[in-house]
Amino acid sequence: MLFILIASILGYAYYLKDKNQELAKIEQGFCPKCKHNTIELVDIKGGGCSPKIMTYVCSSCGYENSFSKDSNCSI
Ligand SMILES: [Zn+2]
Repeated sequence: MLFILIASILGYAYYLKDKNQELAKIEQGFCPKCKHNTIELVDIKGGGCSPKIMTYVCSSCGYENSFSKDSNCSI
């Protein structure tokens, strides 16, 4: 039971790390899948004091992913 819990936490941490690497590539203007500079920001939800959800699409290979970014709202 404990093993399953640890494995799922590690899996989630790995997933987050993977997602951060994808976002880093996208912010440089490259698609993480096909490496072309055809990545486009197609949608932003939220903003202000709520987390932003940004959806990126690659027009070369059809890659699509959404990333949430914490708000930088100072309280
Ligand atoms: Zn692509």
